[in-house]
Amino acid sequence: MQQQHILILGGGFGGTYTAIHLEKQIKKHKLDCIISLVNRENYFVFQPMLAEVVGGSLDVLDTVNPLRKLLPKTQLYVREIDRIDIENKQVILAPKFTHKPYILSYDHLVLSLGNVTDFRGIAGLHEHALPFKNLADSIAIRNQIIDVIEAASYEKDPQLKKELLTFVVGGGGYSGTEVVAEINDLCRTLVKNYPTISQEDIAIYLIHSRDHLMNNELSRSLSEYAANLLQKRGVTILFNTHLASATPTEALLDNGERIKAKTIISTVPSSPNPLIEPLPLELDKGKILTDATLLAKNQTSVWALGDCAKIPNLQAGGFCPPTAQFAIREGKTLSYNIIASILNKPKKEFYFKALGMMGALGHRSAVGEVMGKFKFSGIIAWLLWRAIYWAKLPGLDRKIKVALSWSLDTLFPREAVQLKAHTSSGIGQLHFEQNELIFSQGDVGDYLYIIVKGDVEIIKTHEGKETILAKLGKGEYFGEMALLAQEPRQASVRCLTPVDVLALKKSDFGILIANFAELKKEIEQVQHKRFNDLNN
Ligand SMILES: Cc1cc2nc3c(=O)[nH]c(=O)nc-3n(C[C@H](O)[C@H](O)[C@H](O)COP(=O)(O)OP(=O)(O)OC[C@H]3O[C@@H](n4cnc5c(N)ncnc54)[C@H](O)[C@@H]3O)c2cc1C
Repeated sequence: MQQQHILILGGGFGGTYTAIHLEKQIKKHKLDCIISLVNRENYFVFQPMLAEVVGGSLDVLDTVNPLRKLLPKTQLYVREIDRIDIENKQVILAPKFTHKPYILSYDHLVLSLGNVTDFRGIAGLHEHALPFKNLADSIAIRNQIIDVIEAASYEKDPQLKKELLTFVVGGGGYSGTEVVAEINDLCRTLVKNYPTISQEDIAIYLIHSRDHLMNNELSRSLSEYAANLLQKRGVTILFNTHLASATPTEALLDNGERIKAKTIISTVPSSPNPLIEPLPLELDKGKILTDATLLAKNQTSVWALGDCAKIPNLQAGGFCPPTAQFAIREGKTLSYNIIASILNKPKKEFYFKALGMMGALGHRSAVGEVMGKFKFSGIIAWLLWRAIYWAKLPGLDRKIKVALSWSLDTLFPREAVQLKAHTSSGIGQLHFEQNELIFSQGDVGDYLYIIVKGDVEIIKTHEGKETILAKLGKGEYFGEMALLAQEPRQASVRCLTPVDVLALKKSDFGILIANFAELKKEIEQVQHKRFNDLNN
């Protein structure tokens, strides 16, 4: 038999468990096969425990496992996948450290690329909401919470303090519900160390499009239990409501309500991985349709599993749900079937009866439903949740670390320590709604703004009377005067329509004009004219 190259794309639940079982199968059958796995990170993330990283009951590294350790016989490529060429049986990896791509050929291709949080289509979400999908998101959310609490602790403006201590989470599936529970716990525990902040100052909202939480995962009674518990602990749940847009200062809902908040987190909407869409495969709503053996429809060497695949559910009818417990089992069947097809043996159909679903609600409580019959809630469910997920963690060392972190968490109070790994610089995009102020007269000059979409007006207020100095539109910029003069803002800028701007930090603006004399001259001329308008 000619050597076979099995290439797995994605090192999440589906891809990693496929590789784990393939390593065993290849050893058992003494086959001449190479397994390769491409993933963005060099670790596997145990996503069901990510909410605990936000809350701080688990350490950042507790939820991850090095792929090289889990998969000693697999060739690992830690790199961004750029393109998949099914026709030529090649996968093109994005350039890294050089400008050249890296090309991998394969005999069998396994697609396990998961799905992505897709904020397109909801104005301002990409710019102002934090996603909750991977480890970096958990760290970013935790940092943001600590940041706003620190700022609120010395803020004198009561309105701004309220905005800083208001948190909005979009999506009441299990990830949204679990993360809102952890945020609520974290905030209410941390503020005990801040004498200037009281429990009443904190406002936490969960926005859910359906009429009960975790509607895809739990029965109505357990979902109601979860909602009641969260509400009792101070979370306001808005059912049958969608996030309509987000700005730097507020979340807009589709019922017209506006919630002033500096922190917006959204677990929705999610969409299939964009690498899948251009492939010449049978897709349904962007997911790869497979047969019951996990082979992509009408293909002989392309396999798919996990959140990016639509696999017939032979046990319950319909299609398999996008959950870790399914992806793990799919990985086992898929690895068996690849080896069967290499050996020209019959393949197995994927059949799995879901064990149930659990959701943690923070503060030593959870809800769970096992085998469709047994329902648990409260501390019993929480203990069960921890026991089940702990048992599922791959690797003994990770199990020991997690057990230690959980024990320490019960003994010592949570700490408000941030893990800031990078300093942001460069250009950021911001979205504002009609009538919103981008900045106010008297504010500190911190950014230069370039209008990408929409119109604004520049307003000077003197003795309570407003004068419109100018109207600016697409391609024009504002905010340079305070940066050049090192003075507070001389006027306010209000949006006449919904507006998208590029915001350039003061420090980056300084570098730009220090190096481009022509640009500096041009900006100074505009500044001079605007200064005259302002004072006439
Ligand atoms: C916060 C959260 C909590 C969850 N809790 C539960 C739970 O309690 N129980 C449960 O059963 N399920 C849970 N899930 C769902 C579960 O995690 C997913 O169903 C499961 O991860 C799907 O596995 P997958 O392999 O299809 O995708 P993923 O695990 O998402 O893996 C996809 C992999 O592909 C990589 N990748 C994607 N694009 C590229 C690219 N262009 N280049 C390189 N690499 C790429 C990614 O880095 C990732 O490692 C949760 C999910 C989240 C986000």
